[in-house]
Amino acid sequence: MNELELIARLAPGLATNASVVVAAGDDCAVLELGLPDRWLLFKTDAVVEGIHFTPEAPPRCVGHKALARCLSDVAAMGGIPNSALITLALPRPFDPLWVEKMYEGLNATARRHGVAIAGGETTTNPERILISIALIGTVEKARCLLRSGAKAGDALFVTGELGGSLAGKHLEFEPRLAEARWLAGHFAIHAMIDLSDGLAGDLRHLLKASGGGAELLARAIPVSRAARRRPQGEPSAKSPLLAALSDGEDFELLFTLPASEAVPLADAWRKRFPEVRLSCIGKITAQPGLRLRDKKGLQPLPEHGYVHFA
Ligand SMILES: [Mg+2]
Repeated sequence: MNELELIARLAPGLATNASVVVAAGDDCAVLELGLPDRWLLFKTDAVVEGIHFTPEAPPRCVGHKALARCLSDVAAMGGIPNSALITLALPRPFDPLWVEKMYEGLNATARRHGVAIAGGETTTNPERILISIALIGTVEKARCLLRSGAKAGDALFVTGELGGSLAGKHLEFEPRLAEARWLAGHFAIHAMIDLSDGLAGDLRHLLKASGGGAELLARAIPVSRAARRRPQGEPSAKSPLLAALSDGEDFELLFTLPASEAVPLADAWRKRFPEVRLSCIGKITAQPGLRLRDKKGLQPLPEHGYVHFA
């Protein structure tokens, strides 16, 4: 059983109450807690030594990454992050200097985004460091972006460049909070998700929530330099395009909007975020499934995407 199958088994039995607007299955939970015109966003995420960072990774970067992953999920809802609680599980003996440096990274990223570290918990864990973060934020009800709003005919866009994140970007990425807020405020975005499992995998998540399928244009997919630089020739090596489709931890935004808004969006984006690439990579279709159009024509795309338990 993989991680997604486990979640699918647990999700239907989760306790609920009248405050839940969107439960498990989107980038954040959405809660109605009586804030005027706003919903509360609620997110939890963990990084584990040996899985999400190596023992050699700079501790400042580890702290940054742990929080930035949560911030990226708030961005994917069109929201504003507010405050976080940190649960830190450490093996014994632990290195207090490592923890201090990790917190320096955490605090710097929190300050940059106006987020309070409002408390936390420290505990022990044999062998591996684990950092779990619970984060709240808010979003205007009218601007809340879900995975479930994509419609057939929508243009499909992605920010930044994809693939090869484990070569370094995964420790340094900046969550696309400003970009997502601007998108939610200026365009009729139908659906949005942040890329953590890889373009193909996360697009499948979006399609599962929205219904329908998608057609990707191979030459439009923004392949990162890191994905191009990867050593080629080994039988197990991924092509740069496959890396861009299937590598995890890009933390870019994938979203859809009406095709008629595609050109106005591209023009306005270039003026507002000239340093961030934005690519129209295909369209949403009524026909289910994922297809890739390349030189050989249109072909079905088999399931990729990083699956943690596989
Ligand atoms: Mg996400």
